[in-house]
Amino acid sequence: MRVSLIRYTPEPELAIAAAARLCYAEIGASQLVEKLTPTQVERLLRQVISSGHHSVLEHASFTFAVDGISRATSHQLVRHRLASFSQQSQRYVSYKSPDYVVPPTVAADADLKQIFDQAVLAAFEQYRKLIEAGILAEDARYLLPNATTTRLAMTMNARELMHVCSIRLCTRAQWEIRELFERVRDEVTKVAPIIGSALQIKCITLGYCDERETCGIRPLREDIL
Ligand SMILES: Cc1cc2nc3c(=O)[nH]c(=O)nc-3n(C[C@H](O)[C@H](O)[C@H](O)COP(=O)(O)OP(=O)(O)OC[C@H]3O[C@@H](n4cnc5c(N)ncnc54)[C@H](O)[C@@H]3O)c2cc1C
Repeated sequence: MRVSLIRYTPEPELAIAAAARLCYAEIGASQLVEKLTPTQVERLLRQVISSGHHSVLEHASFTFAVDGISRATSHQLVRHRLASFSQQSQRYVSYKSPDYVVPPTVAADADLKQIFDQAVLAAFEQYRKLIEAGILAEDARYLLPNATTTRLAMTMNARELMHVCSIRLCTRAQWEIRELFERVRDEVTKVAPIIGSALQIKCITLGYCDERETCGIRPLREDIL
């Protein structure tokens, strides 16, 4: 899996701070971006994050290139409705060679990995035969497994990133999408460390676990209230 931040709002934390300060200022955002000091930016950012006044976080957006995740994971990812996605088409792009993700639980056992590899490679082989026989990629792809890799571009604003990280970094989320959002968080932290520090599992922010069972990072809500 490769995740890289390819574009983002210039000075994202300043853009958010100026928008937040604007609500209570007698001057406009264009003057505020010139006047706000780094200390003021940090204070404003931490204030909007902790107070829950998250709409101003929508002023900063981040675009990522994501390569080599499975279609099983991309299917989970694109459920997030307040993000934008462009995904490599299996209709217009056919696979020249097998490219797939092996879950670590399978990779850890040589015998099981062999079963997995054989099944996936057989599917890819039959896929190629259909393509060579003239079947369009859009129909041949029905044979391909969930393990097949994909590429996509993904844009989220900082508010949506906070929401998605809160549930996809949770140990209840599947390993591959968790790994994806750990990488997303690392990329954001490099250019916007205050926003990056707010990309947390929901239990870290809440102080308790609101699921039915806790993994142990935080106690269940009913055990502390
Ligand atoms: C651990 C885990 C297990 C899951 N298991 C399943 C499963 O078994 N089956 C399944 O189908 N899905 C499953 N999902 C996906 C889940 O149901 C959601 O589809 C996914 O989390 C995206 O929706 P969202 O509300 O979190 O946020 P987004 O779509 O990212 O939207 C962000 C926020 O915007 C607001 N919003 C967005 N759209 C609307 C709207 N139409 N109306 C009102 N408010 C809106 C909400 O506040 C929402 O939280 C799972 C997710 C997780 C994290």
